[in-house]
Amino acid sequence: MMLAQYLYEGIDIKGETTGIITYMRTDVTRLSNEFVDAAMMHIQKNYGAQYLGKYQTTKDQNAQDAHEGIRPTNVLHTPEYVKANVDVSSIKDEKLFEDAMKLYARIYGRTLASLMAPAILEHTKVTFTSNHHDFNMKGVRLLFDGFLKVYEESKNKDVLLPKFHQGDTITMDAIVSIEKQTQPKPRYNEASMIKKLDELGIGRPSTYASIIKTLIERGYVTKEKNLQPTDQGILTSDELDKFFKDIINIDYTAEMESNLDKVSEGNYDKLSILKTFYEMFIPMIENAKVNMKKIQPVMLDETCPRCGSQLVIRKSKYGEFIACSGFPKCRYIKKEEAPTDS
Ligand SMILES: [Zn+2]
Repeated sequence: MMLAQYLYEGIDIKGETTGIITYMRTDVTRLSNEFVDAAMMHIQKNYGAQYLGKYQTTKDQNAQDAHEGIRPTNVLHTPEYVKANVDVSSIKDEKLFEDAMKLYARIYGRTLASLMAPAILEHTKVTFTSNHHDFNMKGVRLLFDGFLKVYEESKNKDVLLPKFHQGDTITMDAIVSIEKQTQPKPRYNEASMIKKLDELGIGRPSTYASIIKTLIERGYVTKEKNLQPTDQGILTSDELDKFFKDIINIDYTAEMESNLDKVSEGNYDKLSILKTFYEMFIPMIENAKVNMKKIQPVMLDETCPRCGSQLVIRKSKYGEFIACSGFPKCRYIKKEEAPTDS
């Protein structure tokens, strides 16, 4: 966001400070007609008419809401052009400028790619036969590069294959035997979590950071390389699942987000949404108050080495552990004592 802000505020090009991207909104796909026209001309001139794509808007994006998605302010400002024409004396931090240029190249490439023709790939399976054994290979053949001409996601998992003909004789270079084991799915990190939330239609770009921050602050999740649920997090989630399944789930959240959008657009009455919610929610909370298991921590005669509060025994799915009673303000957890030789 800092780099995007820098691009938005402006870079000195030929003696003039120029904001080279629009305001960084990532939750709309709308582009102004002026920009689309200029970009189409640029594509046709530089790549040819066969590379022209289509600009599509969805129905619910009414034209009155004029916000555009993030894009370069001028299609002629290619990343190469900006780099060649920036006033070098105006760059105060070279590393920052370089990083910002990398981000700009992605914004530029992706915007242009979105207005270009689709690539055409042929999914291909090749079977080689040798000594009565079949060896299979899967991949794609690129028949037309389309938008890939200007923008390619770095993580393209497809293997690009050359053209094979029936009956070709292929000589192998080597035989390598690879042992494969199914790996468990990796835990989410912040980036993959945000991507997933976006895919599921829950949360908004402006709320992603605070969702993850809240989970960490309340001690439900720790963040090292990945986001890892704590015992407390698993326990809390299990209990919420038992009593609030109908409102704490992905479908409900996505529907609520879309209803709230309708309210903000004036197409939906907020009181009726609130009423429906409360009629569902009140019996659930009454039930939870009575039936949710209360796990009272057992107080110990020991104080926390970090903050001096009393230590307590808490229970989790995986057994008991000793922690500070000042949780979540203090996160102290007493580690298991290491077994000694004696
Ligand atoms: Zn403490």
